[in-house]
Amino acid sequence: MIPEIERTTSSKIKSFQEEKLKELLEYVAKNSPYYKRVLKQIGVRPQDINSLEDLVKIPVTTKEQLQANNDDFLCVPKVQIIDYVTTSGTMGEPVTFALTDKDLERLAYNEALSFACAGVMPHDILQLTTTMDRRFMAGLAYFLGARKLGAGIIRVGAGIPELQWDTILKFRPSYLIVVPSFLLKLIEYAKQQGIDLRSSGVKGAICIGESLRDQDFSLNTLGQKIKGEWDLQLYSTYASTEMSTAFTECPEQRGGHHHPELIIVEILDEKDQPVAEGEVGELTITTLGVEAMPLLRFKTGDMVMAHTAPCRCGRNTLRLGPVMGRRKQMIKYKGTTLYPPAMDNVLNNFREVESFVIEIYHNSIGTDEILLKISCQQPSETLLQNIKDHFRSKLRVTPKIEFHAPKEIEKLKLSKLGRKPVTVIDRRN
Ligand SMILES: [Zn+2]
Repeated sequence: MIPEIERTTSSKIKSFQEEKLKELLEYVAKNSPYYKRVLKQIGVRPQDINSLEDLVKIPVTTKEQLQANNDDFLCVPKVQIIDYVTTSGTMGEPVTFALTDKDLERLAYNEALSFACAGVMPHDILQLTTTMDRRFMAGLAYFLGARKLGAGIIRVGAGIPELQWDTILKFRPSYLIVVPSFLLKLIEYAKQQGIDLRSSGVKGAICIGESLRDQDFSLNTLGQKIKGEWDLQLYSTYASTEMSTAFTECPEQRGGHHHPELIIVEILDEKDQPVAEGEVGELTITTLGVEAMPLLRFKTGDMVMAHTAPCRCGRNTLRLGPVMGRRKQMIKYKGTTLYPPAMDNVLNNFREVESFVIEIYHNSIGTDEILLKISCQQPSETLLQNIKDHFRSKLRVTPKIEFHAPKEIEKLKLSKLGRKPVTVIDRRN
């Protein structure tokens, strides 16, 4: 199942998207109180935007703007809304997203495409190991996508390795939908219980929330760890509530494929201008076909690189490389630009390291400093040196590293909002 538009030439994809963009602009100029206001303020009419290049005439939408004007983004009367979800905002209050029946249909189509991209067939069974409720969009999207594709799905939900394995052995799913680090927990449980991983029948994992690959698409430390224990096909997928769209790897596993009928992609620099081809920038998206809360040039905060060469799978669409990190967490350190996930990746190499937090702060001359606080059973000079050497070879720089008691690290990791433990503490602002 590869839609015709994904196989066609890049110029045809571009003009297809330009048509969709015009429809979207007409729609928001009529129905979105927020965008109506913005377009009026800058004096741009829908007919002034005729190409993707014209997009720069429209201001970007930030997370802060979405949060501050949440209700004004709604384009339909409340009575048309079926599903309400929330996503954590940048400060305090979460942002509400509303979906109409048509939006749920779009979400189902998106996820069916995404599964198909990862090779899932109607005869496959998927095991959902993430939560379906709690106002999240993702779990529901997976369910709807499986249904649309005609594949089976078992909604186990988050956690509980025992129930996960009971389900795997009982229903023989062929794919897991899973956060990669949870795969490590499943592997550990299987080892303890003497479950044979190879005869489990699971052949692949659709992995969300954490990167599995380096920028050259080779497996990172986490990916290698999983693959070393359990020979699964690992597919990365990247999505967010705001995008209502997923970028999922095909079997070539060279970045998440763009689906042109669902979203417009821009990669922007700090001045909101498109970066040159092959450069890293902030992923900025315009949703297509969204009815309740379409977004125009929404800045996701994620730093990525786009790959435009045709893929061997037959798709001609753009692919997004692994997310390098959050724009706000970009660190300029000793002449190098780096992001916390790259440091996670280095530290994941060390079994001895039990837990850690990355602190970022400004030193007395106002430039960025990094302090890694690490806990382990037996801190030693040798280990410290090994970690430093590894940083130097992988990232070309070595941050300051300190050993701390496990309790201290755990305390630092407790986030104020409490959704998940923090590993990065940014003290720069
Ligand atoms: Zn491909």
